[in-house]
Amino acid sequence: MINILKKQECSGCYACTNICPKECIRMKSDNEGFWYPDIDKDTCINCELCEKVCPVINNPNKAENKINAYACKNKDNKSRNASSSGGVFSLLCDYVISKNGVVFGVAFDENFNVKHMHAETLEECEKFKGSKYIQSKIGSTYKQAKEFLDNKRIVLFSGTQCQIKGLNLYLRKSYDNLISIDIVCHGVPSPKVFRMYKEILVEKYKSDIKEVRFRDKVNGWKEFSCIAEFKNGKMYSKSAKEDIYMKGFLKDLYLRPSCYECKAKNFLSASDISLADYWGVENIHPEFDDDKGTSLVLVNSRKGEVMFRKISSSMDIIKTNLDYAISCNPCIVGPVKYNPKREQFFSEYNKKNIEKTIQKYTKVTPIQKIKGKIFGILRYINK
Ligand SMILES: Cc1cc2nc3c(=O)[nH]c(=O)nc-3n(C[C@H](O)[C@H](O)[C@H](O)COP(=O)(O)OP(=O)(O)OC[C@H]3O[C@@H](n4cnc5c(N)ncnc54)[C@H](O)[C@@H]3O)c2cc1C
Ligand code: SF4
Ligand code: SF4
Ligand code: SF4
Repeated sequence: MINILKKQECSGCYACTNICPKECIRMKSDNEGFWYPDIDKDTCINCELCEKVCPVINNPNKAENKINAYACKNKDNKSRNASSSGGVFSLLCDYVISKNGVVFGVAFDENFNVKHMHAETLEECEKFKGSKYIQSKIGSTYKQAKEFLDNKRIVLFSGTQCQIKGLNLYLRKSYDNLISIDIVCHGVPSPKVFRMYKEILVEKYKSDIKEVRFRDKVNGWKEFSCIAEFKNGKMYSKSAKEDIYMKGFLKDLYLRPSCYECKAKNFLSASDISLADYWGVENIHPEFDDDKGTSLVLVNSRKGEVMFRKISSSMDIIKTNLDYAISCNPCIVGPVKYNPKREQFFSEYNKKNIEKTIQKYTKVTPIQKIKGKIFGILRYINK
């Protein structure tokens, strides 16, 4: 039976709960707002399946294949604008739905909780567009995906690298009708911190929220904005550098503990395609960058290659250099550094106003500001 000795050893992927034949694993939220398995030991039969599917201790099998990297932009500007980077994910949805397939992705529910859900029409796929910077709850979607796969439907399953690694281990065999897409991530923030932040916005604007967009491109893709629309018609809009929730997220202040020691990076998830932002595209392909969003698409398998070819005519594409792309986006291959203020933040966040607590732990001292400027100049000279 799974035995988590320290929190870094669980990425909260739900593979163990989906596989347990006795349904004796329940995911329980800890005081930071992250879920961990809680096992009813009286019901457990010690079958060890939960250990075999855990992506923190196992790697799925994958066929050796050269990874090809591309800079891509969806030709449909409306769709690209509604997406976080180049809008490639929505093209994959278009293809799969046109083949009567099923798409699994991440959406807000009616209370702005972030969950994995499935869609069988293009209208239903709309809710998946855009990054939601909160850990998504997988629930029983691995089981649902398996049912669709066994019924011979094409399934496109997207998720963070650990979620796709968990899915591929949970399935325990390869399916020709599965296309797994991992969304490169540097970490997922606490759902509880987001809930507390959302409550502050609701209080300030005296209205429930209608829509949240973390990566609005109104001021450009690189200077993205965080927007909340309220039911009373009011609107909140701040750049990611000013929005307090985004500040804490980008400083890795309240990520899941496993994200600082991530075991799903470096192409270990066995996904067919990885999607990321192509940060640094302006230096290597300046003619391609229009500051409206460019995706970095990494094609990792034969199946991924076939899929990529199917959607190619709907994109502007340049083949690019994988090493360069990784140098601008190191979280493709390794975890972020632990923020030393994290522990102190979580010891206080429940007691005081969340906005003020994040502010306190993201404050930049004058020395850090000078260091940042020098680092920026050196980076510019290097380029
Ligand atoms: C928490 C998080 C952190 C990220 N960090 C980075 C990063 O550091 N570097 C980088 O290059 N890219 C990062 N990304 C990915 C990137 O921002 C784009 O989402 C990705 O490139 C796909 O863009 P798109 O334009 O093709 O489609 P979009 O429409 O923008 O993407 C939607 C896809 O993202 C999925 N998704 C949305 N929210 C979540 C979530 N909470 N958990 C799992 N899947 C989700 C949807 O299901 C769908 O598959 C991150 C994404 C998330 C969710
Ligand atoms: S050992 Fe088997 S029965 Fe026990 S919790 Fe794990 S999967 Fe469930
Ligand atoms: S990482 Fe996934 S499979 Fe492993 S213990 Fe955590 S939830 Fe279960
Ligand atoms: S950083 Fe790693 S552990 Fe954290 S959500 Fe992303 S893939 Fe999972």
